[in-house]
Amino acid sequence: MATFRLAAFNKLLERKPIEVKREADLTSDYYGSKVFDRAKMKKYLSKDSYKAVIDAIDNGTTIDRKIADGVATGMKAWALENGATHYTHWFQPLTDGTAEKHDAFIEHSDMGGVVEAFSGKLLAQQEPDASSFPNGGLRQTFEARGYTAWDVSSPAFLMGSTLCIPTIFISYTGEALDYKAPLLKALNAVDKAAVDVCQYFDKNVTKVWANLGWEQEYFLIDEALYQARPDLSLTGRTLMGHSSSKDQQLDDHYFGSIPTRVHNFMIDLENEAYKLGIPVKTRHNEVAPNQFELAPIFEECNLANDHNQMIMDLLNRVARKHAFRCLLHEKPFAGINGSGKHNNWSLSTNTGVVLYAPGKNPKGNMQFLTFVVNALMALYKHQDLLRASILNASNAHRLGANEAPPAIMSAFLGTEVNKMLALIEQNVSDKKMSPEEKTSLKLNIGRIPEILLDNTDRNRTSPFAFTGNRFEFRAVGSSANCASAMISLNTAVAAQLIEFKQDVDALIEKGIKKDEAILQVLKKYIGICKTIRFDGNGYSQEWVVEAAKRGLTNITSVPDALKGYLTPSSKDLFSKLGVFDKNELEGRVEVEYEKFTKKIQIEARVLGDLAINHIVPTAVKYQTLLIENVKGLKDVFGDEYVNLAGNRLEIIREISDHITAIKNMVKEMIEARKVANALSDQIEMAYAYDKDVRPYLTDIRYHIDKLELIVDDELWPLPKYRELLFTR
Ligand code: ADP
Ligand code: MG
Repeated sequence: MATFRLAAFNKLLERKPIEVKREADLTSDYYGSKVFDRAKMKKYLSKDSYKAVIDAIDNGTTIDRKIADGVATGMKAWALENGATHYTHWFQPLTDGTAEKHDAFIEHSDMGGVVEAFSGKLLAQQEPDASSFPNGGLRQTFEARGYTAWDVSSPAFLMGSTLCIPTIFISYTGEALDYKAPLLKALNAVDKAAVDVCQYFDKNVTKVWANLGWEQEYFLIDEALYQARPDLSLTGRTLMGHSSSKDQQLDDHYFGSIPTRVHNFMIDLENEAYKLGIPVKTRHNEVAPNQFELAPIFEECNLANDHNQMIMDLLNRVARKHAFRCLLHEKPFAGINGSGKHNNWSLSTNTGVVLYAPGKNPKGNMQFLTFVVNALMALYKHQDLLRASILNASNAHRLGANEAPPAIMSAFLGTEVNKMLALIEQNVSDKKMSPEEKTSLKLNIGRIPEILLDNTDRNRTSPFAFTGNRFEFRAVGSSANCASAMISLNTAVAAQLIEFKQDVDALIEKGIKKDEAILQVLKKYIGICKTIRFDGNGYSQEWVVEAAKRGLTNITSVPDALKGYLTPSSKDLFSKLGVFDKNELEGRVEVEYEKFTKKIQIEARVLGDLAINHIVPTAVKYQTLLIENVKGLKDVFGDEYVNLAGNRLEIIREISDHITAIKNMVKEMIEARKVANALSDQIEMAYAYDKDVRPYLTDIRYHIDKLELIVDDELWPLPKYRELLFTR
């Protein structure tokens, strides 16, 4: 076996499971031990500081400098007691990860030494400069710095010996440069809009939270094999590799018993997660070999998203400890399932009601149906925006590829909810309803089974599926920051709820009773957004045809899809709700195009290198062996050699053909890159990379994968799919 690959295997054979110890027997005994949560605030803060912080968390009030100083002092005391030496403003720039710049808790002391210090000023705001983060032209480096500002609603936590303070990241001129700042704005918008609508049903509702329960899929690969695959380590996915004879055909991995090394990894991961107050609950093997999933109990959206960011970080760190590498890429291996991150989303109130769960009485159900119909309207109107919010270079491999929701946005509702919408559609009229009609309708609306959760039919092919007490936005990619999808969804729903209230109020003003006005507006909406509802098989060709007839958009090209951010309707939506102004939105979208270009660029470079430096020489070596063999036959047998060498002559030719094809295409690909790189407009460049560079990734790979089947296994330099996927 080629030395590189062999060395990887030898390491693999030496692996021993790493024993892991949970922090304590009971999870509840150590859950949140590394979080500066309410209990710790109560202990470490003065009464006034505690009250002010809780008020800021619950009601969004601001904290003054004096209080901030008090909080900083308490936080520092807790952090130092727990071994912290540094603090950092932890933020989420527009990259694929989080950012942190550590500062030690030290200041000069009067005595010439140092003291541990931390002030309210340092807690509240920092200027990390951080000029290298993507900003889409929002921030010229000669301009002032980027700022991070404390997000009081997400608790500080300890990662190793560093106190991490969740923050937003904005430019000097106030434009958001991260995911958190606009997410908080979107959540605020949906809170206000939903409270206003809830007021029709219950005057006690004063606060509405958006909830998020993410389901994170990932792959684990042995570290030695990973290191022997430069494509995996540089791009997160395999750019070549013939499929394994056996992969997921038998469904024997899905929900199977968890391999010991992986099980130990999971216990370790959960241990770390619990200390950080991340309520991870579910773990299982996924469909593809070496693919797994974990999911927490859902939480308030901003916190849930922070927790997902932390989990992705933990997945990477803990995997290394166990000599694995965690792959968060949406499509690490061609031909088998990729990874997604379903975003389970709902709204709930301060009165303890989940607005996407059917109520206990007709009124509760009216409220439930109101929120369902408005979510459908939001999806209908902003289908292009929602697609844009989940599509990027890596998720593009998955969408529309018969394993994840199609690139057509639609909603699945299930029998019961469909029945209710039909009921409203058929029974409500614009004319005044008789008391009998009203009573009968109310009775019927009251008939939704209170618990739909267990008896909803499931549809795994819908991008936006109702699952009993929530919608599951299933199109989100495994490596994504959920905020991207959550910003668009919550903003779209907020705008829709505002419009709903205006429509209902307009009817009330005309003298129509509230209940009837609500029903009339719902009826109108149900008619308008009908085309977005689809309960059938979203993977089928019939749906593609049907969706086109319905006028739904179907876009799989990333550059095309990203335009969904820049339509008048999206621009209007974001600016009206104060989530992004035109500049911010355009800057952000430019970053998306740039990221797309760069990812394809890196893949093209890596593939070019591997093809020329690894694959072609290997193929030549094997071809030479064959030629030597044929020459020998000729020496021994004379002209008869042709019969004896038979198919070897063909193989020699075949290898030559593949080598020539690879070499030519790599050259052409480089030329295509040069042309694309000369373009000055980011959007044009992304299009050029998509149309002129990206296809080479598939075409070159085709020849490499053919060679993999021909060339002597002893010579093949890279671990093969069967090795990457079946050894651990
Ligand atoms: P499944 O794979 O069957 O869809 P999982 O248990 O893997 O379900 O994940 C479901 C996720 O949805 C969990 O994070 C769960 O906490 C979350 N969830 C449950 N109810 C709600 C809700 N009302 N709003 C948001 N998320 C929810
Ligand atoms: Mg699910």
